[in-house]
Amino acid sequence: MPHSPTAPPRIVVIGGGNAGLSIAGRLHRARLGDITVIEPRETHVYAPLQSHIAGGTARASRAVRPQADVTPPGVRWLRDEVFTVDPDAHRVHLVSGGHLDYDQLVVAAGLRLAWDAIPGLPEAMAAPEGVSNYDLALAAKASPTFRDLRSGTVVFTQPPEPASCGAAAQKPLYLACDWWRALGVLDDIRVILVLSDPVPFGIPDVDRELHRVLDAYGVDVRYSREVRSVDATTRTLTIGHGDVEETLAYDVLHAVPPQRAPEWIAGRGLADPDDAHGFVDVDPETLRHRRFPDVWSLGDSARVATRPSGGAIRPQAKVLAKNLRAALRGGTPTARYDGYSVVPFTVSRGTVVFAEFDRWGKPQPTIPFWRSLSRERRSTWVADRRILPWVYWNLILRGRA
Ligand SMILES: Cc1cc2nc3c(=O)[nH]c(=O)nc-3n(C[C@H](O)[C@H](O)[C@H](O)COP(=O)(O)OP(=O)(O)OC[C@H]3O[C@@H](n4cnc5c(N)ncnc54)[C@H](O)[C@@H]3O)c2cc1C
Repeated sequence: MPHSPTAPPRIVVIGGGNAGLSIAGRLHRARLGDITVIEPRETHVYAPLQSHIAGGTARASRAVRPQADVTPPGVRWLRDEVFTVDPDAHRVHLVSGGHLDYDQLVVAAGLRLAWDAIPGLPEAMAAPEGVSNYDLALAAKASPTFRDLRSGTVVFTQPPEPASCGAAAQKPLYLACDWWRALGVLDDIRVILVLSDPVPFGIPDVDRELHRVLDAYGVDVRYSREVRSVDATTRTLTIGHGDVEETLAYDVLHAVPPQRAPEWIAGRGLADPDDAHGFVDVDPETLRHRRFPDVWSLGDSARVATRPSGGAIRPQAKVLAKNLRAALRGGTPTARYDGYSVVPFTVSRGTVVFAEFDRWGKPQPTIPFWRSLSRERRSTWVADRRILPWVYWNLILRGRA
C-alpha cells in the first residue's frame, strides 16, 4: 500500500526477543516512526537464566514473562510469524496469510536450534537422561537430575560456532561439578566435556582460568571433537574428528544443539549467497544491509563478525538506532559497532569468569582498565545472577540500556 509522505515511517521489527524488543523500545523512545514487532511466541524467555536453572541456582519461573508485558509501551505487537520478506517490494509476508508493508525493516529473528541436525539427538532429549540449558523445559529437567545424581557418567557437549553465546554450554557443567564437590560425590561422577575447538574458549587469559577450573573439577575434556550421532536406547553418543570416531556411554547427556539462522532469511536474498550460515548480510559496523538500504539487522541473526550474545546486543542497538535515525533524515550512517561481546562463565555456584572481548578477541572490559575481570570473581557472579536479570527486564527490553 502506498505510504503518505507526511505519515510517520512504518518500522517493522521481525522478532520480539532480546534484540527485537531492545531496538523497538529505543526507536520508539527516539520517536522515529510507527513501530510494529512481529513475534509468534506468547511468552518471553530470558535465555541466560536457563544456565542457572539447569545448574540449580535459579527457578524456571524467574526466566519467563508474558510477551504482552515486556513489549515496550507505544510499540505494537503483531502476534504472527514471518513467512518470507520481499525486500524489493518492502513487504513482509506472514504465516497467517497476510502481509505488512514497511519503510524500514529490522530483522531480529535469532538463531534456530537444529536438534535434528544430529541423528538421535531429539530422541535422546525426550528420554529421562537427556537435558540441556538451551531449552527451558530441558533446563528445568536438568536441575533435579544433577541435584540427585551421586555416581555415573555425565557428558556435556558444546556445538561449533555460530551459536548463541555458545560457550554458555559450559555454565551448567561448572555449577553441577561445584554441587557434587560440595556433596563429596564428585570423585564418583565422571564428567566429560566434548568441545569442537582445541581450547575451552579461545582467549588466552580466559582459557588459563577455565583450564585451571576444569582440572580442579577433574573434567575429562575431549577437544576438537564433533558430536555425530546419539543413541538413546543404548545411552551412547558418537564423537569424531576426521576419520577418527569414538563412542561414549552416558548416564546423563547435557547436549547443546547446532544452531542456524532461520532459512527464510536466505530465501529472498537477505543473506549473502556465499555465507553458508545464512545470516542477514549487514555491514558488521553500521548494521545496515549491504544491498537493501532500508533493511537492518542485529542480534543472533545478524552477520556481525563476532560471537553472538545478549551482551553484544546492547551496543548494537545503540548503533542501529543512531544509524537508522541518520538514514531517515537523508544522512549517512556513521555510528560503528566494534564487535563487543561477552560470555560470563559461572565457574562455581558463587563465582564467574567474565569474558568481554571485541571482534578480534581482544579483551574489552566494560569497566575500563579492569582487565582482571576475566579472573574468577565473586563480584561478577553477583552481576550475572542478580544485577543483569533486573537490568534485562527493566531497562534492556525497554531500550533504556
Ligand atoms: C542457554 C543460553 C544461555 C545464554 N547465556 C548468555 C549469557 O550468559 N550472556 C549473554 O550475553 N548472552 C547469553 N545468551 C545469548 C542471548 O540470550 C542471545 O544472544 C539473545 O537472546 C539473542 O537475542 P535475539 O533477539 O537475537 O534472539 P532471540 O532472543 O532468540 O529472539 C528471536 C525472536 O525472533 C522470533 N522469530 C524467529 N523467527 C521468526 C519469524 N519468522 N517471524 C517472527 N518472529 C520470529 C523468535 O520467536 C524469538 O522470540 C544465552 C543464550 C542461551 C540460549
